[in-house]
Amino acid sequence: MSRYWSSIVSLLDPYVPGEQPKVSNLIKLNTNENPYGPAPGVMAALQGGITDALRLYPDPNADALKSVIAEYYQLDTSQVFAGNGSDEVLAHTFQALLKQQQPILFPDITYSFYPVYCGLYQVEYERVALDESFRICLEDYARPNGGIVFPNPNAPTGIGLPITEIQWLLERNNNSVVVVDEAYVDFGGESAAALVSQYPNLLVIQTLSKSRSLAGLRVGFAVGDAALIEALERVKNSFNSYPLGRLAIAGAVAAVEDKKYFEETCTRIITTREKLAERLQALGFEVLPSQANFLFVRHPKRDAAKLSQALREQAIIVRHFKQQRIDQFLRITVGTQEECDCLVDALTNILLS
Ligand SMILES: *Cc1c(COP(=O)(O)O)cnc(C)c1O
Repeated sequence: MSRYWSSIVSLLDPYVPGEQPKVSNLIKLNTNENPYGPAPGVMAALQGGITDALRLYPDPNADALKSVIAEYYQLDTSQVFAGNGSDEVLAHTFQALLKQQQPILFPDITYSFYPVYCGLYQVEYERVALDESFRICLEDYARPNGGIVFPNPNAPTGIGLPITEIQWLLERNNNSVVVVDEAYVDFGGESAAALVSQYPNLLVIQTLSKSRSLAGLRVGFAVGDAALIEALERVKNSFNSYPLGRLAIAGAVAAVEDKKYFEETCTRIITTREKLAERLQALGFEVLPSQANFLFVRHPKRDAAKLSQALREQAIIVRHFKQQRIDQFLRITVGTQEECDCLVDALTNILLS
């Protein structure tokens, strides 16, 4: 606290990201990063970008990136917005589209950055409870609201919604924006991106941090009706008109262009996830059905915080949330097959002791 702070700063309750330890030799399964490196073309594009041209500002519109994204989803570039990670895209979305007269709606168990943005931008919200099997029930969102935001698949549960249910909600909710945060959709979910030309109030947000192995580069994007994108551009250009650096644009373009590597690595992660789910079930864990690159699991006889600590002592880190309803769960990122083997071995020993 300082008397120099603006009044809002003392009220903020900032998001706490998963730990990024400085020591190596850890098996890091706590922040849903991709265990595989970026596509080979990304490295080449980044190296190719290291020239004297770095003295120049980047393209303020990141047109090269918008074009490859538009092509990938068969959209017009006016339907694409790009930002420094989807967290920045989400921030602009809260300010540009979700700050309304009525409270916005999001699940009680979800990405914990949403209430943080609400604090920063003074957006009122109501949390809508997941059902007892931790599913989002979109029927509960079909009521007056200032906007709706949820991840699909949801985080940290990993449970996905079929596109037909999202369409059902869009048909009934014409008066506010529906934001679908698809950070994990490439690991087996159904993207709503194909619906944006049909529904002027649908905004789909994605990131290159997970399925395209570029968490360190900070690139995310949104697709939606051109009027929604214009709202985001207006906020962006009133804040920082050069959001993506030259290297970020170059690397992101190469990542989106390499469909083959992307599909191969996603498939590999899905295969590992399914094997890991089976093996954890064999150890007695309840495993929520995941369409993401992580599993949300609980053991009926072992305290989650203690399990997490025991794993840490064996140099494996997973995520535990001290939050009502989910404090007996662990969120485990799907790593390489070898990393998952080590995890299962470690858990087998811990459960025997
Ligand atoms: C990881 C994540 C993001 C943010 O990703 P960026 O690295 O900022 O692009 C957004 N939403 C959810 C649900 C996430 O899990």
